[in-house]
Amino acid sequence: MNLKKGDQIKMLSGKDRGKTGLVLSAREGKVVVEGLNLVKKRKRPTQQGKTGETVLLPRAVDASNAALVCKNCKKATRVGFRAEGSLKIRYCKKCEAPN
Ligand SMILES: [Zn+2]
Repeated sequence: MNLKKGDQIKMLSGKDRGKTGLVLSAREGKVVVEGLNLVKKRKRPTQQGKTGETVLLPRAVDASNAALVCKNCKKATRVGFRAEGSLKIRYCKKCEAPN
């Protein structure tokens, strides 16, 4: 997987296609993106006399449905990896800038 926490991504499919957001967590090929792919969850009242409420929570989407937005050229892009010394550098395939 090419995405990690803190990345700016653009959704490529689903109801939020074309929208961008920040990756909140990334694991097992899936990412949770702030404000995207929201689902309504109903919370039960925890105290007597209070009513339950609905909250919107982001649901994990498959990482292949999200593209990284390059910090340099600001485009949704695919990424590659190259070795620089002992470091593995992720770079933008459009402008070659490290990301
Ligand atoms: Zn770029």
